[in-house]
Amino acid sequence: MQRPLLLNGFMASGKSSVGRRLAERTGSPFVDLDSEIEAIIQTSIGAFFKEHGEAAFRKIEEEQLQGLLGGWQTRFPNPPVIALGGGALLKREVRVRALRDAVVVTLMVSPRTVAVRVAAKGGRPLLEGGDVEARAQSLLEIRARSYFEAHAVLETDDADVGSLVEQTLEVWRTDPIAVAAEEHSYAVEVGRGLLAKRLPNLLASHTSALLVTDRTVFQLHGSEVLAAVSQGRAVGVCELEPGELHKNVAGLSQIWDAAHAHALDRKSLVVALGGGVVTDMAGFAAATWMRGVAWVALPTTLLSMVDAAVGGKTAIDFKDAKNSVGAFWQPKRVLCDVDLLSTESPRGFVSGLAEVVKAGLIGDPELFAICRDESALILAREPARVEDLVRRSIRVKAHVVSVDQRESGVRATLNLGHTIGHALESDAGYTALTHGEAVSLGLVAALKIGERLGFTPHALTTEVRHTLAQLQLPTTLDPNKLRSAVKLLARDKKRAGDKLRFVVAKGVGEVATVMLALSELERLTAELADSLAG
Ligand code: NAD
Repeated sequence: MQRPLLLNGFMASGKSSVGRRLAERTGSPFVDLDSEIEAIIQTSIGAFFKEHGEAAFRKIEEEQLQGLLGGWQTRFPNPPVIALGGGALLKREVRVRALRDAVVVTLMVSPRTVAVRVAAKGGRPLLEGGDVEARAQSLLEIRARSYFEAHAVLETDDADVGSLVEQTLEVWRTDPIAVAAEEHSYAVEVGRGLLAKRLPNLLASHTSALLVTDRTVFQLHGSEVLAAVSQGRAVGVCELEPGELHKNVAGLSQIWDAAHAHALDRKSLVVALGGGVVTDMAGFAAATWMRGVAWVALPTTLLSMVDAAVGGKTAIDFKDAKNSVGAFWQPKRVLCDVDLLSTESPRGFVSGLAEVVKAGLIGDPELFAICRDESALILAREPARVEDLVRRSIRVKAHVVSVDQRESGVRATLNLGHTIGHALESDAGYTALTHGEAVSLGLVAALKIGERLGFTPHALTTEVRHTLAQLQLPTTLDPNKLRSAVKLLARDKKRAGDKLRFVVAKGVGEVATVMLALSELERLTAELADSLAG
């Protein structure tokens, strides 16, 4: 196990019983957070609540939890199992941090079962007085979000402790990454041979399914995936023409046609198997079919694993406006089987590395150091190395997206290198440069502009540029292309009126956004082009 396990859930959901058994089963330390707090406050939680109020209790609870998550290594030889109090993850900030630093499993319980269990055992002051079931119902509604945002949610009403222990252990072992999106939260799994393990159960709660893929991917991996998903049931297939040029209304309409032909209903599942073009299109088709059906992403390119499939942005291109028609529609699961990357073209794989370097720069200095120091192993696609890169990159993105689902704040930092990158990509007609190559050039340009704005140390630009070059990504800006990209900056989707939020890097793992007038960015970019030409 890599990280501690947190058991979350309403009172009487069985957190302590499952936690103790799980700790015994795995030889892990067990911590009951409420008992630890009682030892500190030297009284019962109920008595402390009455005397000092909930806010005072939550403060201590938060400190204790942070202490455990940040410093469990100093107390225990291996990651502990921690049973939380029912309100420990109510505060979103605490919850999102917990999702990053631990694996969180929620034990869900119905108000009816709570009433039965409390009647048998008692001792629940928050449910005292009046109708216990009704009180449990209203408290559960208030807390629902804090329970849904987890790596896994297990129903406990009809389950015995033994089976809950096994299910929890399975989640803990896979060390998934959580994207917190209220009741649309989901887990991203990364591993080798993952599809063979997970696909056979994918359709369990669905009436039917449509596999959306492109011709190239279908030829390489389609029959294997189809057999594993269908398990003898009929699964429709929609095979798109590969490539960005087909990410349009006609391609979308092809998916709708297939959905219609296969009579997809509201309980059907769309399974997206492919690169970012396929996951973007299939996700958007899922968002719109029957006003929204569930979808699962099985990304097959490095770029789609570390970026496109995670975060719930789905779209098609419209005329020359890239990704201009779309929706936020989270997948219900993302499975990144890194074995699929063995067939990706060298150019495609290398392109994906630009987003990996960007993820390191934004939020994982160790990831950046791996990119800088281990280019040979990475380019040889050494499986363990690739798995680690994918996992780390997704962690960075998932955390940022969890903090800011709809891009009202910190999510903008994911655009590091993208403002100028998109302009260069668009100027090249989306064919001469891949997305990743454009991002690599955009990163170099953003760092140079960051230097001019006084945020980016020159040494950082040199280090990033060297890292990108080692990974065989382009880093030489062509002044003429940069000049002709200037006029396209106005099309940036993040533009608000005549201002634009530009992302600058101050150091590895340290980025910030600055509001720039569009004219200012145009001037800086043109000046950069002039300096390169001179
Ligand atoms: P892609 O989907 O076009 O795939 C590139 C090519 O590789 C295609 O020809 C495809 O058939 C082939 N391919 C895919 N998997 C393969 C495999 N395992 N083996 C062999 N060939 C394989 O391109 P991409 O780079 O994966 O994705 C780019 C798209 O992603 C763009 O449209 C971009 O807008 C989108 N994107 C979306 C987000 C988001 O947040 N939604 C983020 C980044 C990028």
